[in-house]
Amino acid sequence: MNYFRDASISTKLIILMMLSSFIVVCLSTTAFLFNEVLTSRERAQQQLSTLTDVVGINVTAALAFDDSVSAREMLKALQAEPGIISAFVVNRENDLFAEYHRGGNHFGFPGVEHYFKSRGIQLTDLSSHHYFDSGELLVIKPILLEDDPLGTMYLISDMRHLGQALINYLWIALGVFVATLSMAYMLAVQLQSVISKRLLMLNEKVNRIAECDDYSALTNDDSKDEVGALVQGFNAMLAQLRQRDTSIMHYQTQLEEQVDARTQELFRSKNKLEHTVIDLKLAKEKAESANEAKSQFLANMSHEIRTPMNGILGMSELLQETSLNEAQRRFLKTIRNSGKSLLTIINDILDFSKIEAEKLELESIEFDLRVLMEELCITFVERAYSNGLELICKVPPEMHVGYRGDPGRIRQILTNLMGNAIKFTKQGEVLVSVEAIDVGNGENEIRFEVRDTGIGIPAEQVEMIFDSFSQADGSTTRKYGGTGLGLAISKRLAELMGGLLSAKSPEEGGSTFGFTVNLRRASEKEISEHSISNLHGLRCLVVDDNDTNREILQHQLSAWGLDANFAASGEEALQILRGGGGTPRGSQSHCFDFAILDMHMPEMDGLELALLIREDAKIAPIRVMMLSSVFLIGDSESRKKAGILYQLTKPAPQRQLYQTIVSLMSAVLQSNEEENIIFESDRLTKEVVFNAEILLAEDNLVNQEVALNMLNILGCNIQIANDGEEALRLYRSTSFDLILMDCQMPRMDGYEATDEIRRQEKRLLVGRVPIIALTANALSGDREKCIESGMSDYLSKPFSIDSMRELLVKWLAPSKAINTANDLEKGDSLVRSLEKRESQNDDVFNDEEHSSADSDLLDQGVLNNIRVLQRKGAPNMLNKVIGLYFDQSALGMDRLRAAIKVLDIDETRAAAHALKSSSANVGALGLADQFRLLENRALQGPLDNASESLKRIESEYSQVILALRQEMSTEGKCA
Ligand code: ADP
Repeated sequence: MNYFRDASISTKLIILMMLSSFIVVCLSTTAFLFNEVLTSRERAQQQLSTLTDVVGINVTAALAFDDSVSAREMLKALQAEPGIISAFVVNRENDLFAEYHRGGNHFGFPGVEHYFKSRGIQLTDLSSHHYFDSGELLVIKPILLEDDPLGTMYLISDMRHLGQALINYLWIALGVFVATLSMAYMLAVQLQSVISKRLLMLNEKVNRIAECDDYSALTNDDSKDEVGALVQGFNAMLAQLRQRDTSIMHYQTQLEEQVDARTQELFRSKNKLEHTVIDLKLAKEKAESANEAKSQFLANMSHEIRTPMNGILGMSELLQETSLNEAQRRFLKTIRNSGKSLLTIINDILDFSKIEAEKLELESIEFDLRVLMEELCITFVERAYSNGLELICKVPPEMHVGYRGDPGRIRQILTNLMGNAIKFTKQGEVLVSVEAIDVGNGENEIRFEVRDTGIGIPAEQVEMIFDSFSQADGSTTRKYGGTGLGLAISKRLAELMGGLLSAKSPEEGGSTFGFTVNLRRASEKEISEHSISNLHGLRCLVVDDNDTNREILQHQLSAWGLDANFAASGEEALQILRGGGGTPRGSQSHCFDFAILDMHMPEMDGLELALLIREDAKIAPIRVMMLSSVFLIGDSESRKKAGILYQLTKPAPQRQLYQTIVSLMSAVLQSNEEENIIFESDRLTKEVVFNAEILLAEDNLVNQEVALNMLNILGCNIQIANDGEEALRLYRSTSFDLILMDCQMPRMDGYEATDEIRRQEKRLLVGRVPIIALTANALSGDREKCIESGMSDYLSKPFSIDSMRELLVKWLAPSKAINTANDLEKGDSLVRSLEKRESQNDDVFNDEEHSSADSDLLDQGVLNNIRVLQRKGAPNMLNKVIGLYFDQSALGMDRLRAAIKVLDIDETRAAAHALKSSSANVGALGLADQFRLLENRALQGPLDNASESLKRIESEYSQVILALRQEMSTEGKCA
């Protein structure tokens, strides 16, 4: 079937025609054959029937006369009929009367009877019959004599000739069949082409259309049949396609023309665009260089403004430490405050322009968030307190605090929010809190909140205040100062750090500012497990009227394993203490180990409460520490009387609170109550001075003066270089503990000088001296530039004495720092004595001819300065310093002698310089002056009269040594 389906149309037509011819021929031949058989048999039967009738008539008489011989003779006549095989005549009694057989055989009656019986024929049957059987035809006819049956005539004819005739006929039919089919095939082959040829032609055309887009018409077909109609339809379709083709060609041409036109247009636009791009590039370059110029301008402006600001603020800070009358102090305070405000405004404007110019880059350094928050709160505590506000800092004790990010910028936002909170709050509290939310990937979202109980912000202005230069109260009569830039900058900074800044003013009053930043977690330095266990199980009572403070302390204390109890007032505290918990550890009833009292409480303040505790013998042994918003509570007398062992300023940094509790609990109390006062405050760091050699490389005289004086107050020995080259020279000849390096200097700038120093250190394999950049530039990248050129740190101008001190603490070896008094008054005396030393130095150094004989060998002021550095329990400071001087100066003198002997100018100068500063440090100012004169001479050139000077120096040196020995023995006795 598949073959037929896939065969070509001509094959299909031929098969169809052949098949129909075959069927027709088969059917007609079969019909014909059938007919022939029937008629032959009919004919044979009729002929035999007639012969039977004739023979029957002939034997009628013989039968009637029972003459079987005649009958047999008559039957013999049948020999003439070659087809007759046998003939029988049976009489009325059914006896065989006569028989004839070709070939002469006789059946006899039993044989005849058997013959008929085997064919189912009764010999008695007198009706006419005929039978075809086994190639024989038997005809039976009654023999009648005037309708009276005399017997029966049987005639058997051989019909095999009929079969032969049929076979012949079949052969003929086969020949006709083959001839007919051959003719039919030839005709089919001829006729199918009439249809298939045209169909093939159509097919070929379709292929041509598909392959070569040939849409030309087919030769027209006049025939009226379906193929003709198909060809005509196809031609019509082709005509339509041709028409469409023409239209398409037309459109195509049109389109091409349009494309050409557009391309031309585009080309022109492209050219135009290229020109515009070139113009834009030029404009961009111009804008970039303008931007560059702007940044440079900003850098220069910042430098230019900060340099005089440094002068104003630094000098006013120094001036503050001198003796001034009340009015002068007031004026000075105004100058300082105005200077600070101006600096804040300049910083804000600079920051704002940096953000606008997208020049602000964030740092990524590791820092401790708790330290940042606590330090920040400490800087605000004085301001908050002077405004009558409680400042609360909430950093959950369990919070992870080590992060990587830009602490400076976080501090800047918090400073602005806290500054505003304090500025806009008349009474109540300012709460600064922080929490961290884990956002996966080692990152935390840090949420800061600054909440105050101040004037609040009208709802409609909450959004507006974040716009630059916008303030809620924009009137000219506004009460609060400010530029309106702080929040705009803070918002942008928070956004730069991946967070948001928002504000709300709740109905109950005040404002809440919150901002988030995303920070990567870093490792953190925790209070060690060991130390935590120190406090475990201790019982304490916290007395504070402020709920938030109590809550924060509860978190902190319970995190350290302390059993903390709380009282909201002095009265309540006394009740708790007297009611059972007042006896110290070791006694039978359960006790409080210590109490933390808030100083400022209504009705009964901390000092009064402490006094009452002290006066009640039952509860007096409890150790008491005070939390206060001011640096010092009452006078030292009342503090001693109240038995306050330690005081911390609120908000107390967690680490400091912890250490203070540890100190409080580990202090050995003396029998003498007066001695029990181990008062400490967080201002201790302010009492640090340094025994360090500092090189100050600075070209600006004002800055030189400011830094010099500050460093003097901080106890340092300073040498000044006016440019990088001079700094290098001094560095090569003297060993310094630290170098302060201005970045912009004539001849050789700070970067180059640092680079050279670092190279030299590498060459000589000596340790790196800390080099601190001093720069007034505040643009981003300055710090990086300094660090890249090999500097260790960065101090931005204008700097304060505190920032200078912090820097020295950070970079000088701990042995160089001396922590001074336990009392603030000592700090003042230190400053005063330093001032005195300065003026004395000035007097001495200004008079070249001044001789040591005119003054005492040792300046007691300087020695007193050393004495005030003495800490309780520590070895005698003065003896230690003098001992050091003996060692160092002996070596120095040997060095000086050797140098003068060989007239080595540099060595002489260096030795004289070292001896000058160490002698001045022990108060041997006259001797120091001798060394200074020698140093100056060595600086100026050949060493004339050096041995003369050495003689004078030797004599004074030995006197100084004697005098110092004297001091040492007196000191020993006092101790
Ligand atoms: P500045 O304080 O220098 O004016 P800011 O951008 O810091 O500029 O603040 C913009 C304005 O937002 C302030 O002038 C004030 O009106 C309002 N504001 C900011 N913080 C507070 C606050 N804590 N309480 C009330 N108003 C505030």
